[in-house]
Amino acid sequence: MGDKLRKFELIEPVMAPDARAARMAVATPLFPKEVFAGDWDVVLQAILTAWRARVWVLVSKGYIPVKYRWVAANCTPATFLTRVVSGVQRDDWFCHYRDVCPWCYMRWVSGAHRSIGELTGRTEGGRLLRMMRTVNLSYGAGTAGLTGALDALQREARMALRANLAGPTLPGAAVGGVWAVMVDPAVVRKDGKAATKGTKGTPFWRLRARVMLVVPGGDPVVGTLRNWDPPQVLGAPGSEEFTEVLAGHFRYPAGLVRGNPARAAECLQVRKEYPGYLAGTVGRLRGAATGEG
Ligand SMILES: [Zn+2]
Repeated sequence: MGDKLRKFELIEPVMAPDARAARMAVATPLFPKEVFAGDWDVVLQAILTAWRARVWVLVSKGYIPVKYRWVAANCTPATFLTRVVSGVQRDDWFCHYRDVCPWCYMRWVSGAHRSIGELTGRTEGGRLLRMMRTVNLSYGAGTAGLTGALDALQREARMALRANLAGPTLPGAAVGGVWAVMVDPAVVRKDGKAATKGTKGTPFWRLRARVMLVVPGGDPVVGTLRNWDPPQVLGAPGSEEFTEVLAGHFRYPAGLVRGNPARAAECLQVRKEYPGYLAGTVGRLRGAATGEG
Protein backbone atom coordinates (compact mmCIF):
# COMPACT_ATOMS: atom_id res chain seq x y z
CA MET A 1 0.00 0.00 0.00
CA GLY A 2 2.82 2.34 1.03
CA ASP A 3 2.83 5.75 -0.58
CA LYS A 4 -0.36 5.17 -2.51
CA LEU A 5 -2.16 5.73 0.76
CA ARG A 6 -2.72 9.39 1.48
CA LYS A 7 -1.70 10.69 4.88
CA PHE A 8 -4.02 13.32 6.32
CA GLU A 9 -3.19 15.82 9.02
CA LEU A 10 -5.95 17.58 10.91
CA ILE A 11 -6.17 21.33 10.48
CA GLU A 12 -9.45 21.70 12.36
CA PRO A 13 -12.93 20.21 12.56
CA VAL A 14 -15.52 22.09 10.49
CA MET A 15 -17.97 23.70 12.93
CA ALA A 16 -20.89 24.50 10.60
CA PRO A 17 -24.11 22.87 11.97
CA ASP A 18 -24.45 20.43 9.04
CA ALA A 19 -20.86 19.27 9.49
CA ARG A 20 -21.33 18.88 13.24
CA ALA A 21 -24.46 16.78 12.70
CA ALA A 22 -22.65 14.58 10.18
CA ARG A 23 -19.60 14.14 12.40
CA MET A 24 -21.77 13.26 15.40
CA ALA A 25 -23.81 10.78 13.36
CA VAL A 26 -20.72 8.87 12.31
CA ALA A 27 -18.03 9.40 14.95
CA THR A 28 -20.18 8.87 18.05
CA PRO A 29 -21.35 5.31 17.30
CA LEU A 30 -17.89 4.37 16.03
CA PHE A 31 -15.57 5.85 18.65
CA PRO A 32 -17.63 7.24 21.55
CA LYS A 33 -14.75 7.35 24.05
CA GLU A 34 -12.51 9.30 21.70
CA VAL A 35 -15.32 11.65 20.71
CA PHE A 36 -16.18 12.48 24.31
CA ALA A 37 -12.51 12.98 25.14
CA GLY A 38 -12.70 15.75 22.55
CA ASP A 39 -9.52 14.93 20.66
CA TRP A 40 -10.59 15.31 17.05
CA ASP A 41 -7.22 14.37 15.63
CA VAL A 42 -7.51 10.98 17.35
CA VAL A 43 -11.04 10.57 15.97
CA LEU A 44 -9.97 11.48 12.43
CA GLN A 45 -7.10 8.99 12.47
CA ALA A 46 -9.23 6.28 14.10
CA ILE A 47 -11.90 6.57 11.39
CA LEU A 48 -9.25 6.54 8.65
CA THR A 49 -7.61 3.42 10.08
CA ALA A 50 -10.89 1.55 10.64
CA TRP A 51 -12.27 2.42 7.20
CA ARG A 52 -9.08 1.45 5.39
CA ALA A 53 -8.91 -1.90 7.18
CA ARG A 54 -12.49 -2.49 6.09
CA VAL A 55 -11.80 -1.44 2.48
CA TRP A 56 -9.31 -4.29 2.02
CA VAL A 57 -11.87 -6.77 3.36
CA LEU A 58 -14.61 -5.42 1.10
CA VAL A 59 -12.24 -5.68 -1.87
CA SER A 60 -11.32 -9.26 -0.99
CA LYS A 61 -15.02 -10.14 -0.70
CA GLY A 62 -15.78 -8.55 -4.05
CA TYR A 63 -18.01 -5.74 -2.77
CA ILE A 64 -15.54 -3.04 -3.87
CA PRO A 65 -13.95 -3.80 -7.27
CA VAL A 66 -10.17 -4.08 -7.14
CA LYS A 67 -9.73 -1.11 -9.48
CA TYR A 68 -11.52 1.19 -6.99
CA ARG A 69 -9.60 0.13 -3.90
CA TRP A 70 -7.34 3.20 -3.76
CA VAL A 71 -10.23 5.56 -4.45
CA ALA A 72 -12.08 4.04 -1.48
CA ALA A 73 -9.09 3.92 0.85
CA ASN A 74 -8.11 7.48 -0.03
CA CYS A 75 -11.61 8.97 0.08
CA THR A 76 -11.34 12.57 1.27
CA PRO A 77 -12.44 13.03 4.90
CA ALA A 78 -15.61 15.05 5.41
CA THR A 79 -16.35 17.45 8.30
CA PHE A 80 -12.64 17.89 9.01
CA LEU A 81 -10.33 20.36 7.34
CA THR A 82 -7.24 18.34 6.57
CA ARG A 83 -3.90 18.72 4.88
CA VAL A 84 -2.57 15.91 2.69
CA VAL A 85 1.00 15.41 3.86
CA SER A 86 1.85 12.52 1.57
CA GLY A 87 0.24 10.73 -1.33
CA VAL A 88 -1.89 12.18 -4.09
CA GLN A 89 -2.81 15.85 -3.64
CA ARG A 90 -6.40 16.39 -4.56
CA ASP A 91 -9.37 17.40 -2.46
CA ASP A 92 -12.22 16.07 -4.59
CA TRP A 93 -11.47 12.39 -4.22
CA PHE A 94 -14.78 10.77 -3.18
CA CYS A 95 -15.47 7.04 -3.42
CA HIS A 96 -19.29 7.39 -3.29
CA TYR A 97 -19.71 4.14 -1.32
CA ARG A 98 -22.04 6.06 0.96
CA ASP A 99 -23.69 2.87 2.26
CA VAL A 100 -20.50 2.19 4.14
CA CYS A 101 -17.72 4.78 3.65
CA PRO A 102 -17.82 6.95 6.81
CA TRP A 103 -16.78 10.06 4.86
CA CYS A 104 -19.35 9.65 2.09
CA TYR A 105 -21.99 8.81 4.71
CA MET A 106 -21.07 12.06 6.50
CA ARG A 107 -21.51 13.94 3.23
CA TRP A 108 -25.00 12.44 2.93
CA VAL A 109 -26.00 13.43 6.50
CA SER A 110 -24.61 16.89 5.93
CA GLY A 111 -26.73 17.26 2.78
CA ALA A 112 -29.81 15.99 4.64
CA HIS A 113 -29.23 18.59 7.35
CA ARG A 114 -29.01 21.38 4.81
CA SER A 115 -32.10 20.16 2.89
CA ILE A 116 -34.26 19.90 6.01
CA GLY A 117 -32.97 23.17 7.41
CA GLU A 118 -33.80 24.92 4.19
CA LEU A 119 -37.26 23.37 4.08
CA THR A 120 -38.19 24.27 7.67
CA GLY A 121 -37.03 27.80 6.92
CA ARG A 122 -39.24 28.00 3.84
CA THR A 123 -42.28 26.43 5.53
CA GLU A 124 -44.53 28.61 7.65
CA GLY A 125 -43.97 27.56 11.25
CA GLY A 126 -42.05 24.58 9.89
CA ARG A 127 -41.51 21.81 12.41
CA LEU A 128 -39.74 18.50 12.29
CA LEU A 129 -41.71 15.32 12.52
CA ARG A 130 -39.77 12.16 13.10
CA MET A 131 -40.89 8.60 12.80
CA MET A 132 -38.79 5.57 13.45
CA ARG A 133 -38.96 1.93 12.69
CA THR A 134 -36.57 -0.81 13.62
CA VAL A 135 -36.93 -4.33 12.37
CA ASN A 136 -36.01 -7.00 14.88
CA LEU A 137 -32.67 -8.67 14.91
CA SER A 138 -32.36 -11.76 12.82
CA TYR A 139 -30.54 -14.56 14.52
CA GLY A 140 -28.04 -16.99 13.18
CA ALA A 141 -29.55 -17.43 9.75
CA GLY A 142 -26.91 -15.51 7.82
CA THR A 143 -28.28 -13.03 5.36
CA ALA A 144 -31.08 -15.41 4.38
CA GLY A 145 -33.82 -13.31 5.96
CA LEU A 146 -32.37 -9.97 4.94
CA THR A 147 -33.84 -9.80 1.45
CA GLY A 148 -37.35 -10.44 2.72
CA ALA A 149 -36.95 -7.93 5.54
CA LEU A 150 -35.67 -5.28 3.12
CA ASP A 151 -38.66 -5.92 0.85
CA ALA A 152 -41.09 -5.58 3.74
CA LEU A 153 -39.45 -2.44 5.08
CA GLN A 154 -39.36 -0.86 1.64
CA ARG A 155 -43.11 -1.37 1.30
CA GLU A 156 -43.74 0.03 4.77
CA ALA A 157 -41.50 3.04 4.28
CA ARG A 158 -43.22 3.88 1.01
CA MET A 159 -46.61 3.64 2.70
CA ALA A 160 -45.47 5.89 5.53
CA LEU A 161 -44.13 8.42 3.06
CA ARG A 162 -47.26 8.32 0.94
CA ALA A 163 -49.47 8.75 4.02
CA ASN A 164 -47.51 11.76 5.13
CA LEU A 165 -46.91 13.39 1.78
CA ALA A 166 -50.49 13.35 0.62
CA GLY A 167 -50.06 16.74 -0.96
CA PRO A 168 -49.65 20.34 0.02
CA THR A 169 -53.41 20.95 0.09
CA LEU A 170 -54.16 18.38 2.78
CA PRO A 171 -53.95 19.80 6.32
CA GLY A 172 -51.13 18.20 8.26
CA ALA A 173 -49.42 16.77 5.21
CA ALA A 174 -45.67 16.94 5.35
CA VAL A 175 -44.00 19.11 2.76
CA GLY A 176 -40.88 17.00 2.45
CA GLY A 177 -38.17 15.26 4.34
CA VAL A 178 -35.43 12.66 4.32
CA TRP A 179 -35.43 8.96 4.96
CA ALA A 180 -32.97 6.13 5.17
CA VAL A 181 -32.82 2.38 5.57
CA MET A 182 -29.69 1.01 7.19
CA VAL A 183 -28.34 -2.50 7.64
CA ASP A 184 -26.17 -2.84 10.70
CA PRO A 185 -24.18 -6.07 11.09
CA ALA A 186 -23.58 -7.14 14.67
CA VAL A 187 -20.56 -5.62 16.39
CA VAL A 188 -18.21 -8.27 17.72
CA ARG A 189 -16.61 -7.75 21.11
CA LYS A 190 -12.93 -8.24 21.84
CA ASP A 191 -13.64 -11.73 23.17
CA GLY A 192 -15.09 -12.67 19.79
CA LYS A 193 -18.72 -12.78 20.92
CA ALA A 194 -21.39 -10.57 19.46
CA ALA A 195 -22.00 -7.43 21.49
CA THR A 196 -25.77 -7.88 21.63
CA LYS A 197 -26.94 -11.14 23.06
CA GLY A 198 -29.95 -12.80 21.51
CA THR A 199 -32.01 -15.56 22.95
CA LYS A 200 -32.00 -17.58 19.74
CA GLY A 201 -28.34 -17.32 18.92
CA THR A 202 -25.90 -14.80 17.58
CA PRO A 203 -27.38 -11.63 16.12
CA PHE A 204 -26.35 -11.24 12.54
CA TRP A 205 -27.79 -7.96 11.41
CA ARG A 206 -30.31 -5.33 12.32
CA LEU A 207 -32.31 -3.29 9.90
CA ARG A 208 -33.29 0.28 10.68
CA ALA A 209 -35.62 2.57 8.82
CA ARG A 210 -35.71 6.24 9.65
CA VAL A 211 -38.06 8.89 8.36
CA MET A 212 -37.84 12.57 9.20
CA LEU A 213 -40.34 14.96 7.70
CA VAL A 214 -41.13 18.64 7.80
CA VAL A 215 -44.71 19.62 8.66
CA PRO A 216 -46.23 23.08 8.52
CA GLY A 217 -46.89 24.73 11.89
CA GLY A 218 -50.37 24.59 13.42
CA ASP A 219 -51.56 21.64 11.37
CA PRO A 220 -52.49 18.30 12.87
CA VAL A 221 -50.23 15.40 12.04
CA VAL A 222 -51.46 12.75 9.63
CA GLY A 223 -50.23 9.40 8.51
CA THR A 224 -49.30 7.21 11.41
CA LEU A 225 -48.68 3.59 10.63
CA ARG A 226 -48.92 0.40 12.60
CA ASN A 227 -45.52 -0.87 13.73
CA TRP A 228 -43.96 2.57 13.48
CA ASP A 229 -43.15 4.62 16.52
CA PRO A 230 -45.73 7.31 17.13
CA PRO A 231 -44.75 10.40 15.18
CA GLN A 232 -42.87 12.85 17.31
CA VAL A 233 -43.20 16.52 16.55
CA LEU A 234 -40.14 18.42 17.58
CA GLY A 235 -41.17 22.04 17.48
CA ALA A 236 -39.41 24.58 15.35
CA PRO A 237 -35.90 23.28 15.68
CA GLY A 238 -33.21 25.59 16.88
CA SER A 239 -29.96 24.70 15.26
CA GLU A 240 -28.56 22.88 18.30
CA GLU A 241 -31.61 20.65 18.88
CA PHE A 242 -31.99 20.03 15.16
CA THR A 243 -28.36 19.04 14.83
CA GLU A 244 -28.49 16.59 17.72
CA VAL A 245 -31.79 15.03 16.71
CA LEU A 246 -30.73 14.56 13.11
CA ALA A 247 -27.38 13.04 14.14
CA GLY A 248 -29.12 10.57 16.46
CA HIS A 249 -31.81 9.74 13.93
CA PHE A 250 -29.36 8.90 11.15
CA ARG A 251 -26.64 7.24 13.20
CA TYR A 252 -24.06 5.48 11.08
CA PRO A 253 -24.41 1.67 11.28
CA ALA A 254 -21.17 1.10 13.19
CA GLY A 255 -21.20 -2.65 12.65
CA LEU A 256 -20.29 -2.06 8.99
CA VAL A 257 -16.84 -0.95 10.05
CA ARG A 258 -16.44 -2.47 13.52
CA GLY A 259 -18.46 -5.65 13.19
CA ASN A 260 -17.49 -9.03 11.81
CA PRO A 261 -15.86 -8.24 8.42
CA ALA A 262 -17.35 -11.18 6.53
CA ARG A 263 -20.82 -10.36 7.82
CA ALA A 264 -20.48 -6.71 6.91
CA ALA A 265 -19.48 -7.69 3.36
CA GLU A 266 -22.40 -10.10 3.10
CA CYS A 267 -24.93 -7.55 4.36
CA LEU A 268 -23.61 -4.97 1.91
CA GLN A 269 -23.86 -7.44 -0.96
CA VAL A 270 -27.52 -8.11 -0.19
CA ARG A 271 -28.11 -4.43 0.21
CA LYS A 272 -26.56 -3.76 -3.21
CA GLU A 273 -29.67 -5.27 -4.82
CA TYR A 274 -31.64 -2.29 -3.54
CA PRO A 275 -30.13 0.60 -5.46
CA GLY A 276 -31.16 4.01 -4.26
CA TYR A 277 -32.63 2.60 -1.12
CA LEU A 278 -30.11 3.91 1.37
CA ALA A 279 -31.75 7.24 1.58
CA GLY A 280 -33.50 9.93 -0.27
CA THR A 281 -35.18 13.24 -0.08
CA VAL A 282 -38.87 13.48 -0.77
CA GLY A 283 -41.63 15.94 -1.40
CA ARG A 284 -40.98 19.52 -2.27
CA LEU A 285 -37.29 19.04 -1.67
CA ARG A 286 -37.37 17.54 -5.12
CA GLY A 287 -39.93 19.97 -6.47
CA ALA A 288 -42.87 17.56 -6.38
CA ALA A 289 -44.68 15.60 -3.69
CA THR A 290 -44.06 12.26 -5.29
CA GLY A 291 -43.18 10.26 -2.22
CA GLU A 292 -40.30 8.71 -4.11
CA GLY A 293 -36.81 8.93 -2.70
ZN1 LIG B 1 -16.08 7.66 0.40
